[in-house]
Amino acid sequence: MTAAKEPVIVWFRQDLRLSDNPALLAARDSGAPILPIYILDTETEGEWAPGPASLWWLHHSLSALAGSLEAAGARLWLKRGRADKILAELVREVRASAVYWNRVYEPAAIRRDSQIKTDLKEDGVEVRSFNGALLAEPWEISTKQDTPYKVYTPFWRALKSTVTPKEPAPRVTSVDGYGGAPASDTLDDWNLRPTRPDWAGGLRDAWSPGEAGATSRLNRFLDKALTGYASNRDCPAIDGTSSLSPHLHFGEISPRQIWQAVEDRVSNGPTREGADSFLSEIGWREFSHNLLYHFPKFPDENFQNKFDGFPWAENEEAFGAWKAGCTGYPIVDAGMRQLWETGWMHNRVRMITASFLIKDLMVHWKRGEAWFWHTLVDADLANNSAGWQWVAGCGADAAPYFRIFNPVSQGERFDPKGEYVRRWVPELRDLPNSVIHAPWTADKSTLRQASITLGETYPHPLVDHKKARERALEAWNKIKDAA
Ligand code: FAD
Repeated sequence: MTAAKEPVIVWFRQDLRLSDNPALLAARDSGAPILPIYILDTETEGEWAPGPASLWWLHHSLSALAGSLEAAGARLWLKRGRADKILAELVREVRASAVYWNRVYEPAAIRRDSQIKTDLKEDGVEVRSFNGALLAEPWEISTKQDTPYKVYTPFWRALKSTVTPKEPAPRVTSVDGYGGAPASDTLDDWNLRPTRPDWAGGLRDAWSPGEAGATSRLNRFLDKALTGYASNRDCPAIDGTSSLSPHLHFGEISPRQIWQAVEDRVSNGPTREGADSFLSEIGWREFSHNLLYHFPKFPDENFQNKFDGFPWAENEEAFGAWKAGCTGYPIVDAGMRQLWETGWMHNRVRMITASFLIKDLMVHWKRGEAWFWHTLVDADLANNSAGWQWVAGCGADAAPYFRIFNPVSQGERFDPKGEYVRRWVPELRDLPNSVIHAPWTADKSTLRQASITLGETYPHPLVDHKKARERALEAWNKIKDAA
């Protein structure tokens, strides 16, 4: 490690990896010693600071990053507080010649980072930012009228035809680490992991945060699930999707690495169908980031403002039952319990549970968005807000409001053998497939044989879906013609 020469600070954020990390690579190539830092800046993030499940992930991901940097020759410096102040002090203290980072597209981060850039440049410090998170920058893709895309299909088509995803940058395996940094916090100082109670057992069983965990997840997916992805991706009982979302959110793997790995695999055998279908989901991630960049109020306000007058219900009891996975609708309860236990939920079930909250219970989508934010290990401002606004029907290119998911037929269609329900709602384990998605339709002897007493061992349905649907459509009719 070198202390004498002026260091380049590499500010890690949502790019917790050494491979395909353009900011780190440029710092290494500058020849200056490197001072890598991570700042826990919850003040700037405000309402959208990471929730408890994300903080659990962050702890482990930073620990993995620190280990990789240590092996490469540098120590990760940790500090908690406002990034603008901490960076300014650090630059002064170590006389840094430059600060490099990879861009984050969240509105509060953009405001903060632009100000930091201006201030540091005024002080004669070189500042460079890079694209480490997206296939294309949001300002690179626009319509013929030079406006942002609001519809996914033409957006994705335009992205694919105008941008050839760059090859991932090589892994940085060795750096000249700066040895003169002031005292760092320790990860344990931050108490990011729960202790009393320790509710993270299910998360530990399900995940391996960090770059190595991301790579092995990708390889497992390519080996086992890519070929069948197009048909299996909607079945929550099948391990048919990549589960890369938290790794992507924290930048332990980049979409460029994923893109290249998929293309390499396809050229060696599997058909394009699975690959195209999977890459188009990476495309939804790009689209969501594009929306958030161009419409920074997306997480907080209806994109279509005619929904501003929607008569949402204040239904605390129902909201509580939804969060706890006790609605009496098995597929909804299975999803909410999977979320609580593992910090993740299958995409099909995210849609079903969100639709149930918004339409059957008529609870505002923002309350569901906030609960997901609190409990998901992959909580991502762009993807979460786009997902909720899509289901609510008030987003860009959203499902029309009047298309209301029926939780029974969705369960029957996508979990026909009830395997997903049995895994997460074990009290229904012994029900036959014919009634597993609607236990209240079972006759007395079937319930008795399955040891179920409705209202005691498993709840009665919280609402009658048919009536709830009519109520939701009536509410929709009141606002649908508003400007
Ligand atoms: P795969 O099917 O393997 O897809 C690969 C990657 O593509 C994902 O990891 C993800 O980065 C991206 N992706 C897939 N589907 C979508 C989508 N619909 N929109 C945007 N990107 C997508 N995703 C998050 O990453 N964070 C969230 O906070 C989040 N909240 C959601 C809330 C709701 C109400 C809904 C309906 C969807 C939400 N999604 C969110 C999108 C999607 O459900 C998850 O990305 C997906 O389930 C993650 O599983 P996977 O990695 O196995 O996905």
